[in-house]
Amino acid sequence: MATVSFNKATRIYPGGEKPAVDQLELDVADGEFLVLVGPSGCGKSTSLRMLAGLEDVNGGSIHIGDRDVTHLPPKDRDIAMVFQNYALYPHMTVADNMGFALKIAGVNKAEIRQKVEDAAKILDLTEYLGRKPKALSGGQRQRVAMGRAIVREPQVFLMDEPLSNLDAKLRVSTRTQIASLQRRLGITTVYVTHDQVEAMTMGDRVAVLKDGLLQQVDSPRNMYDRP
Ligand code: ADP
Ligand code: ADP
Repeated sequence: MATVSFNKATRIYPGGEKPAVDQLELDVADGEFLVLVGPSGCGKSTSLRMLAGLEDVNGGSIHIGDRDVTHLPPKDRDIAMVFQNYALYPHMTVADNMGFALKIAGVNKAEIRQKVEDAAKILDLTEYLGRKPKALSGGQRQRVAMGRAIVREPQVFLMDEPLSNLDAKLRVSTRTQIASLQRRLGITTVYVTHDQVEAMTMGDRVAVLKDGLLQQVDSPRNMYDRP
């Protein structure tokens, strides 16, 4: 069961006067799409990075399923993360980009090929497998970045502003694609954005942060209904 829980998770940066994230209490259900939203500087990325193991936790703990991952390195957390700049390898084809992590992990070629083909089918990338990233559109590159993450079949999927480099029109269509892909895969997902509309249209639940403090967690419907 890939639940996620932040248990009073706190991050104080060296020299910081107050915590960037202050005693965050948040549970994400198995298969849920949870969005962390709030203005720049409210602590969204820091929360996600603590979950990913990219940021020290200075108080409290973080669990994935029944494992306390608070002090585990990123590679032992069974997570995959998609960043806003995609960070694809320019000299490799789409297929090699998508299979790279598996290759590093020592998975055999036939299995990698199968997983890459399956992911490409889901992401509508089959015809682009032999191309280099620079021959793709922004939306296609974004899907390659997602493909690279899903071939590893992580328990938890993390995304930090994955649409911020796309133009407005593409952002809307990619939003829908990501949400439907997540539902199809059923991977527990934590998604960070500063965009309220994005949060409300994509999330099963939305967690609102302000100044490092959790303000509210609810389904979009309940948030809209609230006077
Ligand atoms: P968000 O993702 O919501 O924009 P961040 O988590 O990036 O917010 O930042 C939360 C707070 O922590 C901000 O006040 C930011 O300035 C501070 N912060 C972020 N990263 C660092 C860092 N590496 N060193 C010191 N302070 C940081
Ligand atoms: P190498 O480049 O190491 O000699 P390959 O050319 O067989 O080996 O491809 C390396 C990796 O690229 C494979 O493990 C697989 O991830 C991926 N790959 C290459 N072409 C395809 C394809 N058409 N469909 C799916 N995966 C592919």
